[in-house]
Amino acid sequence: MPRHERAVLTATGWDTPLAHELLDEALPEPGPGEVRLDVEACGVCHRDLIDRSGRFPFQRVPIVPGHEAVGRVSALGAGATTFRVGDRVATMHRDACGVCTSCQRGETSLCEGAAHVFGILADGGYASVLIAPESALYPAPADLPAPEAAVLHCTFGTAYRDLVTLGHLRAGERVLVTGANGGVGSAGVQIAARLGAEVVAVVRDARHGDWLRSLGAHEVVVDAAGDFGRGALGGSIDLALEAVGEPTFASTLRTLRVGGRLTVVGNVTPARVSLNLGFLITRGLTVTGGSGATRRDMREVVALHRTRAFSVPIDRVWPLARADEAQRATRAGGLAGRVVLVAG
Ligand SMILES: [Zn+2]
Ligand SMILES: [Zn+2]
Repeated sequence: MPRHERAVLTATGWDTPLAHELLDEALPEPGPGEVRLDVEACGVCHRDLIDRSGRFPFQRVPIVPGHEAVGRVSALGAGATTFRVGDRVATMHRDACGVCTSCQRGETSLCEGAAHVFGILADGGYASVLIAPESALYPAPADLPAPEAAVLHCTFGTAYRDLVTLGHLRAGERVLVTGANGGVGSAGVQIAARLGAEVVAVVRDARHGDWLRSLGAHEVVVDAAGDFGRGALGGSIDLALEAVGEPTFASTLRTLRVGGRLTVVGNVTPARVSLNLGFLITRGLTVTGGSGATRRDMREVVALHRTRAFSVPIDRVWPLARADEAQRATRAGGLAGRVVLVAG
Protein backbone atom coordinates (compact mmCIF):
# COMPACT_ATOMS: atom_id res chain seq x y z
CA MET A 1 0.00 0.00 0.00
CA PRO A 2 1.68 3.26 -1.08
CA ARG A 3 2.10 5.79 1.69
CA HIS A 4 2.23 8.94 -0.39
CA GLU A 5 2.30 10.24 -3.93
CA ARG A 6 3.58 13.18 -5.89
CA ALA A 7 3.95 14.55 -9.40
CA VAL A 8 7.47 15.52 -10.48
CA LEU A 9 8.80 17.83 -13.18
CA THR A 10 11.95 15.99 -14.26
CA ALA A 11 12.90 18.33 -17.13
CA THR A 12 11.74 21.80 -18.15
CA GLY A 13 9.71 22.08 -21.35
CA TRP A 14 6.79 20.13 -22.70
CA ASP A 15 8.45 17.07 -24.24
CA THR A 16 8.78 15.14 -20.97
CA PRO A 17 5.48 14.55 -19.13
CA LEU A 18 5.28 15.17 -15.39
CA ALA A 19 6.09 11.90 -13.63
CA HIS A 20 3.55 10.50 -11.17
CA GLU A 21 5.20 8.62 -8.33
CA LEU A 22 3.74 6.38 -5.64
CA LEU A 23 6.19 6.23 -2.75
CA ASP A 24 6.19 3.30 -0.38
CA GLU A 25 8.56 4.86 2.10
CA ALA A 26 8.41 6.81 5.35
CA LEU A 27 6.86 10.28 5.18
CA PRO A 28 9.37 13.14 5.05
CA GLU A 29 10.06 14.83 8.39
CA PRO A 30 9.95 18.63 8.76
CA GLY A 31 13.23 20.38 9.56
CA PRO A 32 13.70 23.30 11.95
CA GLY A 33 10.99 25.96 11.49
CA GLU A 34 9.09 23.72 9.09
CA VAL A 35 5.82 21.80 9.23
CA ARG A 36 4.49 18.84 7.30
CA LEU A 37 1.05 19.09 5.69
CA ASP A 38 -1.30 16.39 4.57
CA VAL A 39 -2.30 18.12 1.34
CA GLU A 40 -6.03 18.30 0.62
CA ALA A 41 -5.80 20.07 -2.74
CA CYS A 42 -3.42 22.08 -4.93
CA GLY A 43 -4.35 24.49 -7.70
CA VAL A 44 -2.73 24.45 -11.15
CA CYS A 45 -1.72 28.04 -11.88
CA HIS A 46 -0.48 29.77 -15.04
CA ARG A 47 2.74 30.41 -13.19
CA ASP A 48 3.26 26.63 -13.02
CA LEU A 49 3.38 26.73 -16.82
CA ILE A 50 5.97 29.52 -16.78
CA ASP A 51 8.01 27.48 -14.28
CA ARG A 52 7.73 24.41 -16.50
CA SER A 53 8.66 26.27 -19.67
CA GLY A 54 11.99 27.18 -18.04
CA ARG A 55 11.54 30.98 -18.27
CA PHE A 56 13.19 31.38 -14.85
CA PRO A 57 16.92 30.60 -15.18
CA PHE A 58 16.99 29.48 -11.53
CA GLN A 59 14.22 26.86 -12.01
CA ARG A 60 15.28 23.69 -10.20
CA VAL A 61 14.60 20.19 -11.60
CA PRO A 62 13.60 17.59 -10.62
CA ILE A 63 10.96 19.36 -8.55
CA VAL A 64 7.38 18.90 -7.36
CA PRO A 65 5.39 21.81 -8.88
CA GLY A 66 2.60 23.75 -7.19
CA HIS A 67 2.33 26.83 -4.97
CA GLU A 68 -1.44 26.72 -4.29
CA ALA A 69 -1.81 24.00 -1.67
CA VAL A 70 -4.07 23.66 1.33
CA GLY A 71 -3.86 20.95 3.97
CA ARG A 72 -3.75 19.96 7.60
CA VAL A 73 -0.58 20.20 9.68
CA SER A 74 0.51 16.63 10.49
CA ALA A 75 3.97 17.20 12.04
CA LEU A 76 5.97 20.09 13.49
CA GLY A 77 9.72 20.60 13.08
CA ALA A 78 11.94 21.90 15.87
CA GLY A 79 11.06 25.47 16.81
CA ALA A 80 7.91 25.59 14.66
CA THR A 81 5.41 27.32 16.96
CA THR A 82 2.97 29.22 14.71
CA PHE A 83 0.64 26.26 14.02
CA ARG A 84 -0.50 23.12 15.78
CA VAL A 85 -1.01 19.61 14.46
CA GLY A 86 -4.48 19.50 12.88
CA ASP A 87 -4.57 23.19 11.88
CA ARG A 88 -5.70 23.92 8.36
CA VAL A 89 -3.12 26.01 6.53
CA ALA A 90 -2.44 27.07 2.95
CA THR A 91 0.67 28.11 1.07
CA MET A 92 1.80 31.56 0.10
CA HIS A 93 4.39 31.77 -2.68
CA ARG A 94 7.43 31.51 -0.44
CA ASP A 95 8.83 31.90 3.04
CA ALA A 96 9.93 35.09 4.81
CA CYS A 97 13.10 35.57 6.86
CA GLY A 98 11.48 37.93 9.35
CA VAL A 99 14.58 40.11 9.72
CA CYS A 100 15.27 41.85 6.38
CA THR A 101 14.07 45.40 5.72
CA SER A 102 10.99 44.22 3.79
CA CYS A 103 10.00 41.76 6.53
CA GLN A 104 10.51 44.42 9.21
CA ARG A 105 8.05 46.63 7.30
CA GLY A 106 5.55 43.77 7.15
CA GLU A 107 6.15 43.34 3.41
CA THR A 108 6.92 39.65 3.80
CA SER A 109 6.06 38.79 0.18
CA LEU A 110 9.02 41.00 -0.83
CA CYS A 111 11.42 39.26 1.59
CA GLU A 112 14.98 39.61 0.36
CA GLY A 113 16.15 36.48 2.15
CA ALA A 114 13.42 34.04 1.14
CA ALA A 115 14.60 30.98 -0.74
CA HIS A 116 11.80 28.47 -0.28
CA VAL A 117 9.84 29.31 -3.43
CA PHE A 118 7.33 26.52 -4.01
CA GLY A 119 7.62 24.86 -7.41
CA ILE A 120 10.72 26.84 -8.44
CA LEU A 121 13.33 26.31 -5.74
CA ALA A 122 11.53 23.92 -3.36
CA ASP A 123 9.08 21.05 -3.75
CA GLY A 124 5.49 22.27 -3.96
CA GLY A 125 1.96 21.02 -3.52
CA TYR A 126 1.38 18.50 -6.36
CA ALA A 127 1.75 15.84 -3.66
CA SER A 128 -0.09 14.16 -0.82
CA VAL A 129 2.41 15.54 1.70
CA LEU A 130 4.27 18.84 1.68
CA ILE A 131 7.12 20.12 3.83
CA ALA A 132 6.93 23.91 4.22
CA PRO A 133 8.54 26.61 6.35
CA GLU A 134 5.82 27.90 8.64
CA SER A 135 6.54 31.46 7.44
CA ALA A 136 5.32 30.37 3.97
CA LEU A 137 1.86 29.41 5.29
CA TYR A 138 -1.22 31.27 6.45
CA PRO A 139 -4.20 29.99 8.47
CA ALA A 140 -6.83 28.80 5.96
CA PRO A 141 -10.53 28.90 6.82
CA ALA A 142 -11.68 25.50 8.08
CA ASP A 143 -15.11 25.81 6.48
CA LEU A 144 -14.08 26.49 2.89
CA PRO A 145 -14.14 23.69 0.27
CA ALA A 146 -10.55 22.50 -0.27
CA PRO A 147 -10.28 23.55 -3.96
CA GLU A 148 -11.33 27.11 -3.08
CA ALA A 149 -9.08 27.31 -0.04
CA ALA A 150 -6.19 26.09 -2.21
CA VAL A 151 -6.41 28.87 -4.80
CA LEU A 152 -7.56 31.78 -2.59
CA HIS A 153 -4.06 33.16 -1.99
CA CYS A 154 -2.85 33.31 -5.59
CA THR A 155 -6.12 34.73 -6.97
CA PHE A 156 -8.02 36.79 -4.36
CA GLY A 157 -4.91 37.42 -2.25
CA THR A 158 -2.99 38.81 -5.20
CA ALA A 159 -5.93 40.93 -6.41
CA TYR A 160 -6.57 42.24 -2.89
CA ARG A 161 -2.96 43.20 -2.32
CA ASP A 162 -2.64 44.89 -5.70
CA LEU A 163 -5.93 46.79 -5.53
CA VAL A 164 -6.19 47.60 -1.84
CA THR A 165 -2.83 47.31 -0.06
CA LEU A 166 -0.73 48.69 -2.95
CA GLY A 167 -3.41 50.41 -5.06
CA HIS A 168 -5.19 52.17 -2.15
CA LEU A 169 -8.62 51.53 -3.69
CA ARG A 170 -11.35 53.82 -2.37
CA ALA A 171 -15.12 53.48 -2.62
CA GLY A 172 -16.58 55.39 -5.56
CA GLU A 173 -13.45 55.12 -7.70
CA ARG A 174 -13.55 53.88 -11.26
CA VAL A 175 -11.43 50.72 -11.47
CA LEU A 176 -10.27 48.93 -14.62
CA VAL A 177 -9.35 45.23 -14.60
CA THR A 178 -7.71 43.61 -17.63
CA GLY A 179 -7.80 39.85 -18.16
CA ALA A 180 -10.98 40.05 -16.10
CA ASN A 181 -12.00 36.46 -16.86
CA GLY A 182 -8.76 35.04 -15.36
CA GLY A 183 -8.11 33.93 -11.79
CA VAL A 184 -6.65 37.25 -10.55
CA GLY A 185 -8.85 39.33 -12.87
CA SER A 186 -12.18 37.84 -11.80
CA ALA A 187 -11.09 38.11 -8.16
CA GLY A 188 -10.18 41.76 -8.77
CA VAL A 189 -13.62 42.48 -10.25
CA GLN A 190 -15.30 40.99 -7.19
CA ILE A 191 -13.09 42.72 -4.62
CA ALA A 192 -13.33 46.15 -6.28
CA ALA A 193 -17.12 45.85 -6.61
CA ARG A 194 -17.46 44.67 -3.00
CA LEU A 195 -15.47 47.70 -1.80
CA GLY A 196 -17.72 50.14 -3.64
CA ALA A 197 -15.81 50.80 -6.86
CA GLU A 198 -17.33 51.19 -10.32
CA VAL A 199 -15.68 48.32 -12.16
CA VAL A 200 -14.77 48.21 -15.85
CA ALA A 201 -13.78 44.68 -16.91
CA VAL A 202 -11.71 44.19 -20.06
CA VAL A 203 -11.80 40.81 -21.83
CA ARG A 204 -10.99 39.49 -25.29
CA ASP A 205 -14.08 37.35 -25.66
CA ALA A 206 -17.71 38.52 -25.40
CA ARG A 207 -18.85 35.22 -23.91
CA HIS A 208 -17.46 36.27 -20.49
CA GLY A 209 -19.71 39.35 -20.31
CA ASP A 210 -22.73 38.02 -18.42
CA TRP A 211 -20.60 36.15 -15.93
CA LEU A 212 -18.49 39.23 -15.16
CA ARG A 213 -21.60 41.38 -14.73
CA SER A 214 -22.90 38.78 -12.28
CA LEU A 215 -19.62 39.15 -10.33
CA GLY A 216 -20.15 42.91 -10.05
CA ALA A 217 -18.65 44.46 -13.20
CA HIS A 218 -20.54 47.64 -14.13
CA GLU A 219 -19.16 47.67 -17.65
CA VAL A 220 -17.58 44.91 -19.76
CA VAL A 221 -15.32 46.00 -22.61
CA VAL A 222 -14.65 43.34 -25.24
CA ASP A 223 -11.42 44.14 -27.04
CA ALA A 224 -9.49 41.41 -28.83
CA ALA A 225 -6.92 43.85 -30.26
CA GLY A 226 -5.92 45.58 -27.01
CA ASP A 227 -6.99 49.00 -28.35
CA PHE A 228 -9.44 49.90 -25.57
CA GLY A 229 -7.31 52.84 -24.36
CA ARG A 230 -8.04 54.86 -27.52
CA GLY A 231 -11.81 55.07 -27.12
CA ALA A 232 -14.16 56.55 -24.54
CA LEU A 233 -12.32 54.80 -21.71
CA GLY A 234 -9.28 57.03 -22.22
CA GLY A 235 -8.51 59.22 -19.20
CA SER A 236 -11.44 57.91 -17.15
CA ILE A 237 -9.91 55.40 -14.71
CA ASP A 238 -8.66 56.06 -11.16
CA LEU A 239 -7.01 52.69 -10.56
CA ALA A 240 -6.14 49.88 -12.98
CA LEU A 241 -5.24 46.28 -12.22
CA GLU A 242 -3.10 45.10 -15.14
CA ALA A 243 -3.57 41.34 -14.97
CA VAL A 244 -2.42 40.61 -18.53
CA GLY A 245 0.86 42.45 -19.14
CA GLU A 246 2.49 43.69 -22.32
CA PRO A 247 -0.46 43.02 -24.71
CA THR A 248 -2.74 45.44 -22.81
CA PHE A 249 -0.29 47.66 -20.91
CA ALA A 250 -0.20 50.63 -23.33
CA SER A 251 -4.00 50.80 -23.50
CA THR A 252 -4.35 50.44 -19.74
CA LEU A 253 -1.97 53.37 -19.21
CA ARG A 254 -4.06 55.53 -21.59
CA THR A 255 -7.24 54.81 -19.63
CA LEU A 256 -5.83 56.49 -16.49
CA ARG A 257 -7.08 59.91 -15.54
CA VAL A 258 -4.62 62.54 -14.27
CA GLY A 259 -3.11 61.23 -11.03
CA GLY A 260 -4.27 57.68 -11.82
CA ARG A 261 -2.62 54.52 -10.45
CA LEU A 262 -1.77 51.27 -12.16
CA THR A 263 -0.65 48.05 -10.50
CA VAL A 264 0.93 45.44 -12.75
CA VAL A 265 0.62 41.80 -11.84
CA GLY A 266 0.18 40.07 -15.21
CA ASN A 267 3.20 39.14 -17.28
CA VAL A 268 1.81 36.62 -19.73
CA THR A 269 4.36 37.18 -22.50
CA PRO A 270 8.09 37.84 -22.13
CA ALA A 271 7.85 40.93 -24.43
CA ARG A 272 9.02 44.32 -23.08
CA VAL A 273 6.79 47.40 -22.96
CA SER A 274 7.75 50.91 -24.05
CA LEU A 275 6.79 53.79 -21.84
CA ASN A 276 6.23 57.44 -22.86
CA LEU A 277 7.85 59.12 -19.87
CA GLY A 278 6.39 62.51 -20.81
CA PHE A 279 2.90 61.03 -20.56
CA LEU A 280 3.75 59.52 -17.19
CA ILE A 281 5.21 62.78 -15.83
CA THR A 282 2.69 65.30 -17.17
CA ARG A 283 -0.26 63.21 -16.01
CA GLY A 284 1.31 62.37 -12.64
CA LEU A 285 0.69 58.63 -13.00
CA THR A 286 1.81 55.95 -10.56
CA VAL A 287 2.87 52.52 -11.84
CA THR A 288 3.44 49.87 -9.19
CA GLY A 289 4.79 46.35 -9.46
CA GLY A 290 2.33 43.97 -7.85
CA SER A 291 3.50 41.37 -5.38
CA GLY A 292 2.11 38.33 -3.62
CA ALA A 293 -0.24 38.59 -0.67
CA THR A 294 1.12 38.52 2.87
CA ARG A 295 -0.47 36.79 5.86
CA ARG A 296 -2.03 40.14 6.79
CA ASP A 297 -3.55 40.54 3.31
CA MET A 298 -4.94 37.00 3.60
CA ARG A 299 -6.56 37.78 6.94
CA GLU A 300 -8.45 40.61 5.26
CA VAL A 301 -9.38 38.48 2.23
CA VAL A 302 -10.69 35.68 4.45
CA ALA A 303 -12.70 38.20 6.51
CA LEU A 304 -14.31 39.60 3.34
CA HIS A 305 -15.01 36.08 2.08
CA ARG A 306 -16.64 35.20 5.42
CA THR A 307 -18.91 38.26 5.33
CA ARG A 308 -20.24 37.29 1.93
CA ALA A 309 -18.67 34.47 -0.06
CA PHE A 310 -16.82 35.35 -3.24
CA SER A 311 -17.30 33.19 -6.30
CA VAL A 312 -14.04 31.23 -6.60
CA PRO A 313 -14.04 29.67 -10.07
CA ILE A 314 -12.92 26.04 -10.16
CA ASP A 315 -13.18 24.37 -13.56
CA ARG A 316 -12.56 20.79 -12.41
CA VAL A 317 -10.96 18.69 -9.69
CA TRP A 318 -8.66 15.91 -10.87
CA PRO A 319 -6.54 13.25 -9.11
CA LEU A 320 -2.80 13.89 -8.84
CA ALA A 321 -2.17 11.13 -11.37
CA ARG A 322 -3.55 13.54 -14.01
CA ALA A 323 -1.19 16.41 -13.08
CA ASP A 324 0.49 16.45 -16.49
CA GLU A 325 -2.88 16.51 -18.24
CA ALA A 326 -4.02 19.27 -15.87
CA GLN A 327 -1.09 21.51 -16.82
CA ARG A 328 -1.66 20.84 -20.53
CA ALA A 329 -5.38 21.66 -20.18
CA THR A 330 -4.48 24.92 -18.39
CA ARG A 331 -2.00 25.72 -21.15
CA ALA A 332 -4.61 25.07 -23.85
CA GLY A 333 -6.84 27.69 -22.19
CA GLY A 334 -10.59 28.14 -22.34
CA LEU A 335 -11.19 26.81 -18.82
CA ALA A 336 -13.74 28.35 -16.46
CA GLY A 337 -11.37 28.67 -13.50
CA ARG A 338 -8.60 26.56 -12.07
CA VAL A 339 -7.95 22.86 -12.42
CA VAL A 340 -7.34 21.63 -8.86
CA LEU A 341 -5.45 18.42 -8.02
CA VAL A 342 -6.29 16.13 -5.11
CA ALA A 343 -4.37 13.11 -3.83
CA GLY A 344 -5.75 9.60 -4.22
ZN1 LIG B 1 -0.69 30.70 -8.53
ZN1 LIG C 1 12.81 38.87 4.94
